[in-house]
Amino acid sequence: MSNKVNKLSGTIAAQASAQGVSGISVIRVSGNKCKSIAKKVTGKTLAHMKAQHTDFFDSDGAVIDSVVALFFASPASYTGEDVLEISCHGSMAVVDEILKTLYEQGARQAGAGEFTKRAFLNDKLDLTQAEAVADLIESSSAETARAAKNSLEGAFSKKIFSLLDALTELRANIEASLDFPEEDLEQTGHNQQVEKMFSQTSKRYLSLLEETKVACKIREGLVVAITGEPNVGKSTLLNQLCGHERAIVNEAPGTTRDTIEVETTIDGYRVCFVDTAGLRETTNSVEQEGIRRTKETIKQADLVIEVRDAKKDNELKTKNDQKRLVVFNKTDLLKTKPKRNKTNNGALFVSALTGLGIEGLVENIGNRFKKAGGVELTITARRRHLVSLNESYGAFSAAKKKTTKSIAGDVVAEDLLQAQNSLSEITGEFTNEELLDSIFNRFCIGK
Ligand code: GDP
Repeated sequence: MSNKVNKLSGTIAAQASAQGVSGISVIRVSGNKCKSIAKKVTGKTLAHMKAQHTDFFDSDGAVIDSVVALFFASPASYTGEDVLEISCHGSMAVVDEILKTLYEQGARQAGAGEFTKRAFLNDKLDLTQAEAVADLIESSSAETARAAKNSLEGAFSKKIFSLLDALTELRANIEASLDFPEEDLEQTGHNQQVEKMFSQTSKRYLSLLEETKVACKIREGLVVAITGEPNVGKSTLLNQLCGHERAIVNEAPGTTRDTIEVETTIDGYRVCFVDTAGLRETTNSVEQEGIRRTKETIKQADLVIEVRDAKKDNELKTKNDQKRLVVFNKTDLLKTKPKRNKTNNGALFVSALTGLGIEGLVENIGNRFKKAGGVELTITARRRHLVSLNESYGAFSAAKKKTTKSIAGDVVAEDLLQAQNSLSEITGEFTNEELLDSIFNRFCIGK
């Protein structure tokens, strides 16, 4: 582990806008050769943050396109280095020609996420902010976009830094007490003060852990398992929910022998529906394996939709809960339409075949994001944040326990240091090349 890893070298260039034909395309260049390259390709000395309408010349001096060039002098740029942004006509041929010229003039092709990685290495962004850039680009709902923007502006890092400050203060207090006898610490109220600090910090940990869990869940998406006996209409329901034929629908019971996963979005939120093998007694070994996987999926799912055949029963005795939603299917076959009343405890009535009631079901699933744990989504977070936060809380809790058992202060301080290091992994103060690669390699080239 090192504080910040080696800086990247060379001047990089890549298309920053999406690939393909468009009105305009943006090409980004970053690095110490930027200024001289800009001079060669435009024939002009560009001033900081002054857009310049100019011709773009190839290496033989022929005009490729008429572009708008925007130069940012280091350090006041996205990457912290000299940056050149060229807005050209959105033709793939023009973009290729411009990039070819930039490479000839001394730039090299940027790696995945290399612009943002440079921003991180040059202290323009911390790691959670860099990750928020990717989250913002990929966000598919207004709420997740807003949360990513908050994280990009440092909302998540601020919470981490403030926890780090609290840990530093606690450590300082504990270390200061090492030189005093226990009676003195009791008499001066020092111990009570430390106890109070532990309890306040603990509360902050728990609230941030809750927020991070929710944000992580929303980013990763809800896993919704569709379960029920064979032939109740699980596959038909999955197809209806996804709007296309994905699962095989068959009249013979036991058609779905494995789990089928389909990713879709509801109100812009990611949902992964899993159609499971019907739960029933069977001697068929393939079907038995399917049932084993079904049970595993149910355990891990955020929501289990229990599909039942409305012709066979349409009363729900036990109430639906946060994780279970009973859906009576095939209501098109019923002579009298069932009404939602107290006896059906919040169950939904649908016809997967005709689409009746599906809208209500989709709305019900969508609402689960909005009320996710009753916590408002203010930040974006990833699994690695949650893991580090949990590790940090573990070390902090160990320190707290040791204090109540009057274990030596230096041992407690060591645990607190461990808690701080885990938190620093989140913001990237404490990181390694492997972690950075795993984060930035998922970015596109040009980001
Ligand atoms: P699964 O075994 O639970 O996945 O059930 P399938 O989706 O394969 O459906 C079994 C049979 O029930 C098929 O013939 C479907 O066309 C039929 N089915 C499914 N949903 C409905 C429904 O809402 N109404 C009617 N009438 N038939 C349905």
